Amino acid sequence: MTSPEQLSISWQSLLEALPDGTALIDRRGVMHYVNAELAFLTGYTHDELVGQNVQILIPPDLRPLEGEARRQLARNPDSRIIWNDRNLTVLQKDGTERSVDFALSPLILDGTRWTVGSIRDNSAQRAAEQARIEAEQHFRLAFEDNMAPMVFTDLEDCIITANDAFCAMMGRTRSELIGFDSKPFTFPDDVGIAEASHERLLHDEIRQVRYIKRYLHKDGRMIVAEVSKSPARDKTGKTLYFIISERDITEERMLTAQLSHQALHDPLTGLANRALLDDRLQHAHSRIVRHGGHGALLLLDLDDFKGVNDTYGHLVGDQLLAAVAHRLEGVTRSTDTLSRFGGDEFLYLAEGISGADEAEMIAERFLRSLDEPFVIGDLSLEQRASLGVVVWDATTAELSNVVRDADVALYEAKRLGKGRQFVYVPGMHHQVINRFSMVQDLRQAVASEELAMHYQPIVRLSTREVVGFEALMRWHDHQRGWVPPGVFIPLAEQSDLILDLGAFALHESIVAAGEWGRSKASLSEPYVTVNLSARQFHDPGLSALVKRELDASTLPADRLIIEITESVALMEVADTLEMIEQLTGLGIGVALDDFGTGFSSLSYLALLNPMIIKIDQSFVRPAIESIHSDRLLETIVSLGHNLGMTMCAEGIETEGQLERLRALHCSLGQGFLFSPAVPFAEAAMMVGTTF
Ligand code: C2E
Ligand code: MG
Ligand code: MG
Repeated sequence: MTSPEQLSISWQSLLEALPDGTALIDRRGVMHYVNAELAFLTGYTHDELVGQNVQILIPPDLRPLEGEARRQLARNPDSRIIWNDRNLTVLQKDGTERSVDFALSPLILDGTRWTVGSIRDNSAQRAAEQARIEAEQHFRLAFEDNMAPMVFTDLEDCIITANDAFCAMMGRTRSELIGFDSKPFTFPDDVGIAEASHERLLHDEIRQVRYIKRYLHKDGRMIVAEVSKSPARDKTGKTLYFIISERDITEERMLTAQLSHQALHDPLTGLANRALLDDRLQHAHSRIVRHGGHGALLLLDLDDFKGVNDTYGHLVGDQLLAAVAHRLEGVTRSTDTLSRFGGDEFLYLAEGISGADEAEMIAERFLRSLDEPFVIGDLSLEQRASLGVVVWDATTAELSNVVRDADVALYEAKRLGKGRQFVYVPGMHHQVINRFSMVQDLRQAVASEELAMHYQPIVRLSTREVVGFEALMRWHDHQRGWVPPGVFIPLAEQSDLILDLGAFALHESIVAAGEWGRSKASLSEPYVTVNLSARQFHDPGLSALVKRELDASTLPADRLIIEITESVALMEVADTLEMIEQLTGLGIGVALDDFGTGFSSLSYLALLNPMIIKIDQSFVRPAIESIHSDRLLETIVSLGHNLGMTMCAEGIETEGQLERLRALHCSLGQGFLFSPAVPFAEAAMMVGTTF
């Protein structure tokens, strides 16, 4: 028998020539011959390997494989084992592992069975494989798992692949998308939107295009997307396909639209706001300057709207405003702009009108549209308005004057009795009616004795004798003439000016009533009632002021009565009760004014416990005209009686009204039937008389 050693020359040259690391292994696994490549791949020397069991080259976790190989060879001694598809490694001398392919071949030499084992380093392939896997993972991350909707399209714009985000954005599955172009789910107006840029991308003129495109979601919704499209090119620069990345900006767009609408519209009425109107006004003016013609501005202010808010609360006030806006909108022309100018004011811009006549017709339409009462919940509310109208043309130099002139005209409309319109007359004396200057003039008025208190007699209805007077403020302005308190009191209430006016009213009235008491020998001295506005009544210094005035006068405290309206009383009930207590503590009386126009509940009325209830003239006037109003009046009077309060009816103008009130046992009253408010001297003559 020839041993391998004896054949060494031919074996060596043969095995050394093999590119693989090779060993000749006996049946026990001992290596009898190893080539230099095996020594190289394992890090051992030739001598360290020869005589060793192959086990030393097998990593522990792969040792079971050796058993498998052995069993396979036992079953089929002539078979070869080639393992190049498993992650096999060889254990190197330094303990590290090298990735290899592995083969075992049987060899019979002179009847002795040997095994030729060989390994081939495959780390390069494995690295390439790893790189491929990683590239795939990267792609998955970059494309498939990308949060941004992405698609690849071919040069004909057919979808090659789409990621999950794109499918979700469109509400479609991949199979509903791949192989199709985007036409069927593109918003019709946007089909072909990117065609021009498509060509330029193909011809390498641009590297990327961005555009906004609207799609149709499967459920029919419109989707707005921001699209960026770039070509994928090969090494030669040839475009292979397009990479399209999208951003769903539907919500963003909606939000922006909403915000810009909000920025330009009044949230309550949905009408244009001041900013939008200003802008339209500018444009209208430029058009008039270029093409001629007239524009008109109509400033509409709701009459006595504050009363609605005070009486029924802001919720009802808001509903009424919205309802008014709706009515006004109903009579506007589509080319014009109706805006809410703030609070209860509306400003209307009319373009292309022929002149003042047409503007007046528009104003008339607005006023008529408010004729019918407004139904808010269970309430039926009358709401009228006053309108200031101004017409302008290209000769108007300063546009801001137009708004101011409308305001001037509006105040003239109010002054003339409300519920009407007034057209601004160029050259109209601003000082006369400008409400801004009015506040300043009112300040002066206190000092320059333009303010006076007038006194309206209060009569015992059964005997018609004068029992007291209501002090009512009058302003005689040297330019404006008589300005009614309904105009200047609300203006004064906007600042501390009202406190000065209130102090004036108190002082004058207390002095006046003191005089009457002295001058006339009547059975009972007349009392005086003084109206207080909210600011005054809730001013903590009020009772001290009243006490100082009373101390300085001859008027007994029980001859002074303070009038507050229901809405003032209900504003801060706890404060009100405290103030009433302080005032009654001084011995003076409290009357609840304009009763019936407010919203007071019975429990509040009992709590406030006023000495006198003044029934508002709106209940007195229509009483004899309608059964319903009559019942209301009857109820109010008996209500007051049951609570032990004295009832005083306001606004008695006819004998009929007087008769009815007498029949109801209403004890006191005032009104033009007896006398309007008159100056001090005239009032003095009425003390102790009967009407
Ligand atoms: P008020 O306190 O309800 O005063 C009654 C109003 O009815 C007065 O209007 C009076 O002139 C008017 N009047 C009296 N009899 C009749 C009548 O038979 N028919 C009609 N149609 N009206 C009649 P005036 O003087 O214009 O005052 C309006 C309101 O201004 C007052 O309503 C009061 O709330 C307020 N006011 C007047 N003077 C003062 C004041 O010194 N201080 C405060 N805070 N408010 C005042
Ligand atoms: Mg009053
Ligand atoms: Mg009143």
